[in-house]
Amino acid sequence: MADLHGVFRYLRGVPTMRRLVATLALMLSMSGAAWAEQVFSFDATPGKLPKNVVPVRYAIALAPSLETLALPGVELVDIEVREPTAKVTLNAVNTTFVSVSIDDEAQFAVVTLDSAAETATFTFPQPLAIGAHKLRIAFEAQINKFGTGLFTVDYPTDAGTKRLISSKLEPSDARRIFPCWDEPAFKAIFALEVTVPRNLLAVGNMPVVREQPFGPNLKQVAFAPTPKMSTYLFVLTIGELERITADVDGVTIGIVATTGKAAKGQFALDSAVKLLAWFNDYFGVKYPLPKLDLIAVPGGFGGAMENWGGITFFESRLLFDPATNADTARRPIFGIIAHEMAHQWFGDLVTMAWWDNLWLNEGFATWMATKASEQFYPQWLSWLNGYGQKQFALALDARRTSHPIQQTVASESEAMVAFDAITYNKGQALIRMLENYLGETAFRDGIRKYMAKHAYGNTTTADLWQALESVAHKPVTGIAASFTEQDGVPLVTAETSCSGEEQRLALRQGRFVIAPTAAAPLLPRNWQIPVAVGLLRPASSPEIVLLQGSTEVAAGSCGEAIKVNFGDIGYYRVEYDPTSRAALAKSLAALAPEDRVNFLADSWAMVQAGRAGPPSYLALVEMLSPDDRWPVWDQVINTMSALNRLSRNRAEQPILQNYARARLGPVLGKLGWDGSGSGDDDTALLRGSLIRTLGEFGDEEILAEAKRRFAAFLQDPKSLPNALRDSVTHLVGITADRATYDTLLGLARKSTVTNERLRYFFAAASARNADLARATLALTLTDAVPGTIVAGMINSVASSGEQPDLAWDFVRRNFDALLVRQGPAFRDQFVANLMTNFSDEGHAAELAAFAPAQATSGGRVMTARALETIAIAADLKARALPAVDAWIKARSKQ
Ligand SMILES: [Zn+2]
Repeated sequence: MADLHGVFRYLRGVPTMRRLVATLALMLSMSGAAWAEQVFSFDATPGKLPKNVVPVRYAIALAPSLETLALPGVELVDIEVREPTAKVTLNAVNTTFVSVSIDDEAQFAVVTLDSAAETATFTFPQPLAIGAHKLRIAFEAQINKFGTGLFTVDYPTDAGTKRLISSKLEPSDARRIFPCWDEPAFKAIFALEVTVPRNLLAVGNMPVVREQPFGPNLKQVAFAPTPKMSTYLFVLTIGELERITADVDGVTIGIVATTGKAAKGQFALDSAVKLLAWFNDYFGVKYPLPKLDLIAVPGGFGGAMENWGGITFFESRLLFDPATNADTARRPIFGIIAHEMAHQWFGDLVTMAWWDNLWLNEGFATWMATKASEQFYPQWLSWLNGYGQKQFALALDARRTSHPIQQTVASESEAMVAFDAITYNKGQALIRMLENYLGETAFRDGIRKYMAKHAYGNTTTADLWQALESVAHKPVTGIAASFTEQDGVPLVTAETSCSGEEQRLALRQGRFVIAPTAAAPLLPRNWQIPVAVGLLRPASSPEIVLLQGSTEVAAGSCGEAIKVNFGDIGYYRVEYDPTSRAALAKSLAALAPEDRVNFLADSWAMVQAGRAGPPSYLALVEMLSPDDRWPVWDQVINTMSALNRLSRNRAEQPILQNYARARLGPVLGKLGWDGSGSGDDDTALLRGSLIRTLGEFGDEEILAEAKRRFAAFLQDPKSLPNALRDSVTHLVGITADRATYDTLLGLARKSTVTNERLRYFFAAASARNADLARATLALTLTDAVPGTIVAGMINSVASSGEQPDLAWDFVRRNFDALLVRQGPAFRDQFVANLMTNFSDEGHAAELAAFAPAQATSGGRVMTARALETIAIAADLKARALPAVDAWIKARSKQ
């Protein structure tokens, strides 16, 4: 699964530490490298369902009604009874059972439902004997209006509003479509048949093998049976759809979109063709299905989902529209396609046994997406420009509420909140560090062995380490497990000393922690860290030291600058002693951009952790050139924006904003509003980001220019380049009066292009005027706003619109009405996320007291993370902001 912009903000917190796991990891790390996890075994796999009966093949017939949302179905399940039993338990939610029988109606079952456990138990009069049986279930499930299970999407077209249905099942919502063993280790074959209106196209995991008329207006569509797979990978999309295709390596790749839009999938189709051939080679096992559809869904859920053979995407994540998209929009589109296609192997062909190993899916798909982008578009500099992904994980992982990459997952709500930056981004960073340590070829050969050995099966992380170790002939488990089985961020302290002309570098590891001042200290950790150390000499390559405890290495000549975490490949923070830090700062301009970003990011992290004062970071910012690259300035923009958010309602906020404008203004001055160039270089990204930030920081000239350009755009849309539209529209939104606000909403309603509609809706939701913020909030309860973006709109009112109290009061008053429209993920995650817009104890207490947020264990995890986020922000506000103000004042007097 991959997430929408908002979803990562959504998952800003991290789950609570599982004490048992953490203590166990500590005991193990102290007793040597005896790591806990075993290779896959079905019987030892966690989960809730009994393993005495397993499904082998489902034949499912569904007759969904797009009008009534009824979902009647019949399924015939070939099961294997492993020990004699009269009871069969499987998963079902909101399902009515019509009849359940076994072996050609030899026995009928009594059905008992457990809605809390989301299970149904069939009790037969006589026990079933060991061996094969056929279970027949007639049932009626439901189509939802929120993006879970099988759901409706109502979308605008030139011919009026249309409806389609699509599905999203990870982690545990296949049970909302048909009764099933809905845990990833229960792999089976799925043969699907659907009855649908004749004018609609139905897309499933596999190609259609038979289609025949049924009654006056309907048709029956049968799909070929799937290979063995997990339930969460099932897909069904039905609507007025069209498809464009291309063939590669014997596989038909299709882009499926609503009628009239498939041509906008050409970039996606070309990308998928390239990627399939490249993945076939990299994984050493060919993509095993005859077709792969990439399906653009104009609503429902925000990201993309790797259903085997039928990947679903939120429409604007897949389609590239030259008329409305910036050229740089190709980058995230390519990236998300690569992510979901990598899952066709990592996740679909070989599947984690249980959600505690979700990172095996997500860490790998995230890493592979960046690797593939580097492969096909080296000019995008995907590792450098994606530096922020690792920074995001490092920030969360330094907290008490972090969790190991491999974590205990006890329930569906906990599985849902496992889709966070630790799983995705720390996972990606660890894999990159390991690949770098083992070598690209050895690592790939290990992956090939793992794929071949476990195809159509399940694994644990231990299976992967075993495959890598057998090929690379280097110890992997000790290094890797020290990062996957315990949480936390390593701190590498670097201290130079001189011995005559020669310089020595002492390295020591500790634990890097960001915590409120009053918090109790966190337990120490013990990692095995491949630390890259490099001199700034031309053509010198870094030395990799495997750091356990402490060590000392030669480091050039006395006083020479030395960079630790050379190339920004390692997952750790670096703290330099004053001498080596000064030498490095003096060489700032000579560092490679990735090292400059890494040095800046670590410097700011030391401030967040209370290990350094803000001036140490601000002095580096002063030394940057206005000509520097996008990621370097992006690091500065993010830091200034974080300080600006903390400064809300402070009398001194203008001091900070003036300073930030004085730093960033000259950078935009060099670029200008209308740069030349291809439109797909990094300056386009930097320009957009600077305009947005300067406007948010109250730069009157920028705001006036944005308004002027927007007015011209209303007269002649071609006058505003696509690359500037997001920033300009956003600034017009935050400063909107009623007339402008109405214009934005009018444009949103008129457009049938998803990326455009979102741009206008979110700009309107960013209005800082309180009356307009109230108007936006009221709209989120109506059908005027697509359900998919309701959570994002409310969050925009709180963050960009700077009206967090209005948003929070609204959510409290209307929680039940919002929940009905948004579904269970909203209950578990939304409020906790919203409250991280605050940084004071009073709001923390209100969150702690808000009962619905505590209703599930996943919800309690999210609440604990958010409470810590608020406490850390409050602490930083008290500690850092006065020091920043004082430094800026002192500087202006110089
Ligand atoms: Zn994913």
